[in-house]
Amino acid sequence: QATLGVLGGGQLGRMFVHAAQRLGYFTAVLEPDAQSPAGLVSHHHIQTGYDDPAGLAQLAQLCQAITTEFENVPAQALQTLAQTRPVAPGGAVVGIAQNRIEEKAHFAACADVSGVTCAPYAVLETPAQVRAVQDERAELLPGILKTARLGYDGKGQVRVRTAADLAAAWAELGGVACVLEKMLPLTAECSVLVARGWDGQVVSFAPQRNVHVNGILAVTHAYEGNMPPALATRAREAAVAIAQHLGYVGVLCVEFFVVDDGTEHGGLVVNEMAPRPHNSGHYTIDACDASQFDLQVHAMAGLPLPQPRQHSAAIMLNLLGDVWFDASGQLREPDWHSVLSLPGTHLHLYGKVQARAGRKMGHLTITGPDVVRVKAVAHRAADLLGLPGLDAI
Ligand code: ATP
Ligand code: MG
Ligand code: MG
Repeated sequence: QATLGVLGGGQLGRMFVHAAQRLGYFTAVLEPDAQSPAGLVSHHHIQTGYDDPAGLAQLAQLCQAITTEFENVPAQALQTLAQTRPVAPGGAVVGIAQNRIEEKAHFAACADVSGVTCAPYAVLETPAQVRAVQDERAELLPGILKTARLGYDGKGQVRVRTAADLAAAWAELGGVACVLEKMLPLTAECSVLVARGWDGQVVSFAPQRNVHVNGILAVTHAYEGNMPPALATRAREAAVAIAQHLGYVGVLCVEFFVVDDGTEHGGLVVNEMAPRPHNSGHYTIDACDASQFDLQVHAMAGLPLPQPRQHSAAIMLNLLGDVWFDASGQLREPDWHSVLSLPGTHLHLYGKVQARAGRKMGHLTITGPDVVRVKAVAHRAADLLGLPGLDAI
């Protein structure tokens, strides 16, 4: 029986395991946490650190091919595994995506083919570079200072209004390597999922429009007309070009900003990429005939990549731990009975034992034959659960 491996035990790993098991694969998860969402549902759970040589050797020995689900898995661990097994995505591209400085350099390097650039930015690694920005690059302010590494869900970011604030903001982030990005006038955000095989075959999903609340994804809109078609085409083509330019294998998610640039539909700016399936792609499980996780399984195992087809309009609502607390701060189980009585609701819970504010506990996808009905149900579900973000657009 063939076994597929995954580095990391979070919810992305769990949904990957579900997809792999449906195709008859056994799975092995390497994850230090004993109670992880993916470890709990996998055939094998290697409970050790991501860079433990013995654990990595055991994973390689068990598995036909290996992937990763965790944003900050050591790229070196993937390189080690790749010495003996197919690893997708590879350590080199994961390393690029883990470092905003390298990531932006890659976006710049393929801007000619992708047709998109990132926000104006400066690299800040030394006090001299901080002073140089203060003196010479005032156009970057107001801006957002982001740590080059280890940031996610808006963590590791500080908004900077004036040049005088910059040094303090940099110190607040620990004086580590950062990028300062100009704050852009966003009118919308979207992301595109691309899957690419070992043979270079590429398929992609239509862009989904995303709404963030407090730097965390809150709502994904996935239906015909979720954004102007001309922009959607450009985003999709740009994401494919970015994946191809990387020689990427597996599922890649590219995030974009839509900015007000005075043109009819606005301009497209590339934000960042995630070298894995993505929270904004969870709707594909219930609304498409192949999900982002199915494609990840196919890509790494060397199976053909079907061009996915979306059969239902969909809205995804992220379920953060906040939903588990009532107005007086008491922990309680949300009213799933009422939510699941609504038509087209698909509840996904990740098996996390402890609810905490801001923690991703699950998601709810609402599907239906058309966007009007999906929106109506999404609003009722959001009201029942007290979820934010749906009225934003
Ligand atoms: P993720 O969880 O998606 O990995 P992250 O912590 O890596 O998030 P970013 O995607 O860089 O963070 O930024 C989070 C959000 O902050 C963006 O989705 C967007 O809403 C806002 N944002 C980031 N950069 C800018 C910018 N230059 N101008 C305006 N808004 C921005
Ligand atoms: Mg990110
Ligand atoms: Mg992001």
